[in-house]
Amino acid sequence: MALISVTIPTYNEEENIPALYERLRHVSSALKQDVEFIFVDDGSTDGSFRILEELARRDARVKVIQLSRNFGSHAACLAGLSRASGDACAFLSADLQDPPELLVMLIEEWRKGFDVVLGVREWGEKPSRLFPSLYYRAVRRYALPTMPATGTDVFLIDRKVADAVISIGEKNTSIFGLILWSGFKQTVVSYRKAPRHKGVSKWTLGRKAKLFIDTFVSFSFVPLRLMSLVGILLAIAGFLYALVVIFNRLFFSVPVQGWASLMVVLLVVSGTQLVFLGILGEYIWRNFDETRKRPPFIIDRTIGFDAKDER
Ligand code: UDP
Ligand code: MG
Repeated sequence: MALISVTIPTYNEEENIPALYERLRHVSSALKQDVEFIFVDDGSTDGSFRILEELARRDARVKVIQLSRNFGSHAACLAGLSRASGDACAFLSADLQDPPELLVMLIEEWRKGFDVVLGVREWGEKPSRLFPSLYYRAVRRYALPTMPATGTDVFLIDRKVADAVISIGEKNTSIFGLILWSGFKQTVVSYRKAPRHKGVSKWTLGRKAKLFIDTFVSFSFVPLRLMSLVGILLAIAGFLYALVVIFNRLFFSVPVQGWASLMVVLLVVSGTQLVFLGILGEYIWRNFDETRKRPPFIIDRTIGFDAKDER
């Protein structure tokens, strides 16, 4: 029988874990596969870890990785992946927005020979707010063409994809991006996303903005190309205007004029330059961060793994 590893990034989800576990337990009997549930406690400050500890004691399929602090859910997923021993690895959020019952369908597609099975929101159920829909549209167009239009939060990958993603070991990136980027045979399963079971989303606007920039800087050179393009256009415009000024002066004796026009050009051009410096900075900062070789996450302790890799 195949082993399926299910990684669940968990950050202050004490209200959701018991309900999630019940659903998982129920689903696992329908799976007809061996399963392990890897809960990654991403530096929770509530009682999440204690609840997980208790679950691990009662159920040998529950394993727990506690990170040394909050590293973000993408790093938490990577941490789970790094310790997963399944023939296929799935990811699920702890707030029950993605129904655990979806695992059955994901595994079915994997059994048919697909290496990457993405759970996507049902058609017609578009990301409701402006930000997500713009984000996914831009990502599809400029960074990852295989990203589903509605995005994806839940997926299952074959062992070979998991190994590929682990070997990349990049930071400041999107784990969905890495999976899509790595290729392999993909398919999608549509499902209806549920509202959060309890509590509020842990993704702040700042974090979403970081993910947005990460996705573009990691998977696209469009921002750099755009900078060159704007630079070329501005230079051409400047050159043409210079010709007009010279022509006017020589043939129509129009005096050289313009404090206002000078100011406008100065402000627009220097503003553009600063923005572009900022974009360059994003690339350079990430380059620096990668060369420092700090790991994407640090494990504090683990529960339930084989003694040989228990830390
Ligand atoms: N999460 C995490 N670390 C974080 C933020 C979130 O492990 O820093 C987990 C969270 O517990 C949940 C999943 O990632 O299981 C998705 O987070 P959330 O539901 O808050 O995000 P949203 O559904 O709004 O995208
Ligand atoms: Mg959620």
